Amino acid sequence: MSTPSPDDSLRPTAKRLMSYVAPHRGGLFLTLVAYIGAACTEPMIPQLLGYALGEGFTQYTHKSSQLTPGLPAEAPFSLWMVPLVLIGLFAMRGLFGFLGQYLLHRTITRTVMDIRAALLQSLLRADARVYSSLQPATAVTKVVNDPQHVITLLGGSVITILRDGLPALAMLGYLFWLNWQLTLLSMVTVPVMATVMRLVNKRVRRMGTWAYDANLRLVSVVEDVTRAWRVVRSFDAADHERQRFADQSREVQRSALKTSAANALAQPLSQLVASVGISLIVALALLQARHNQAGVGEFAAFVAALLLMTSRLRHLTDVAQPITNALVVARGCLELMDLPREPDHGHTELSQFSGRIELDQVVLRYPGATRPALDGLSLLIEPGRTTALVGSSGAGKSSVVNLLLGFERQDAGRVLLDGVPLEDLTKANLRRQFAVVSQDIVLFDASVADNIAYAQLRDDARLEQVLRAAALWDFVQTLPQGLDTPVGANGSKLSGGQRQRLAIARALYKDAPVWIFDEATSALDTESERAVQQALEQWQGHKTLLVIAHRLSTIRRADRILVLNQGQVAESGTHEELLAAGGSYAGMVGQSH
Ligand code: ADP
Repeated sequence: MSTPSPDDSLRPTAKRLMSYVAPHRGGLFLTLVAYIGAACTEPMIPQLLGYALGEGFTQYTHKSSQLTPGLPAEAPFSLWMVPLVLIGLFAMRGLFGFLGQYLLHRTITRTVMDIRAALLQSLLRADARVYSSLQPATAVTKVVNDPQHVITLLGGSVITILRDGLPALAMLGYLFWLNWQLTLLSMVTVPVMATVMRLVNKRVRRMGTWAYDANLRLVSVVEDVTRAWRVVRSFDAADHERQRFADQSREVQRSALKTSAANALAQPLSQLVASVGISLIVALALLQARHNQAGVGEFAAFVAALLLMTSRLRHLTDVAQPITNALVVARGCLELMDLPREPDHGHTELSQFSGRIELDQVVLRYPGATRPALDGLSLLIEPGRTTALVGSSGAGKSSVVNLLLGFERQDAGRVLLDGVPLEDLTKANLRRQFAVVSQDIVLFDASVADNIAYAQLRDDARLEQVLRAAALWDFVQTLPQGLDTPVGANGSKLSGGQRQRLAIARALYKDAPVWIFDEATSALDTESERAVQQALEQWQGHKTLLVIAHRLSTIRRADRILVLNQGQVAESGTHEELLAAGGSYAGMVGQSH
């Protein structure tokens, strides 16, 4: 088996990018037309200047004066024509140039928008497991910054190709017309130059990949430090983090230096190759002169034109690097599109879910785990009752919730909602059946109302109703903008208890058949605990409640308590029954006092 070269590995990326540019090809075509227009005006400028100089500086008689023998009878053009034609020509060139740039940027911005939309779409559809390995900051970089970076780099290269490539092409035609042997000889240097450039580019690409990865790792260190600042402080880990940052910084610096060294090598190398070509050309020209095939004037014209063309071509050699760099970055961010998608193959919809959930011999094994998280778990959640799941950390409580919400899939056994297998339901319908109040409260940087009626139509009467039920209405009334007051990033302007109540109000607003109180992360402040306690007392007996509890105080009144151990139900019954049985639950209660 042959290993693919870096060129091959970037080709699919290029193809993929092109599929996003393709819908805007009309704009690209117009860009091309505009730049061809601009290129056409270019040779006209020296041409006109030459004409003006050639004809305009000859001695001539004035129309009204007497004819002088030996001088032309009349000026070939009026003086006012000179500024008019020159200004007109530059205006035309300017207009074409402007149109070219404008049209190209229009295409660029639209393409960036499309790519970002596609990337966000794949994030929204990605399988839940993806999120355990995807850092938010990385996702932000890949969705927001990278597409802009990629397209800007590519756009810059396209402009160079159009602005310098087209005139260079015209000059090449002129060179062949002037002296084809010399032109052919100068072309020999091209493949040699190309080979050298390919080698350099390969290194640039390798360094580029390294630099890109190093940058991402640096980003995630900063992200960790800000996101997990409590942990960092409480472990007194500032030195550890500083060291981690310093190591990554050094890596970024080294990779950046090596990338620019590889970049900087490109020009001197290509100039060296070009100098070999030029010496050959001079030698051949001298040989032609000795055989009287070419004059000094022609050689001067040839060299001048060749120099003009190389100055254009020099810009073109700088084109390959940004393209390669852009493709490396693009490969990184387009990878997001290959994230495994959340399977959604169900076709059934429950319209009136009673709340009856049955787990039958369910086995759930996480990838790489040595033992299953749920190990033949069977349990029943009855409509209108309160069921509590307790058990030590790692017993499988959160796994049950993840399974019910369709974030994980069981490897064996069945999960039935009103007798319908969970995987037969569409994901949208499944998730409509549950409202989750988690201690891991996630609020959006939006108003109180938008946080509660999240992704639903806003109904102020209903908002008041749920806010009253969550005992938050009085507080909201004191806010400067009432329901429209922003809560800050992740509710930073609210206290722990208020955030908890807001989360409860959101769940109420959703009005799902089953409520899940996920207390798995424990560590509740008393205010939040009271909020949860009140909500539970209020809804117990009216709703189907599933409570995942660490604090036994919240579940004492549950209709049924299931004690999980190693992914199985170890004991079940009411608080009193379990206490009387004197098993592990009784032990836990004893410990908590
Ligand atoms: P609990 O909520 O009772 O603390 P979990 O359901 O979170 O327990 O975890 C049950 C078991 O599954 C634990 O052994 C845990 O380490 C494992 N586990 C949970 N989530 C994952 C995951 N994403 N990948 C691998 N193992 C996991």
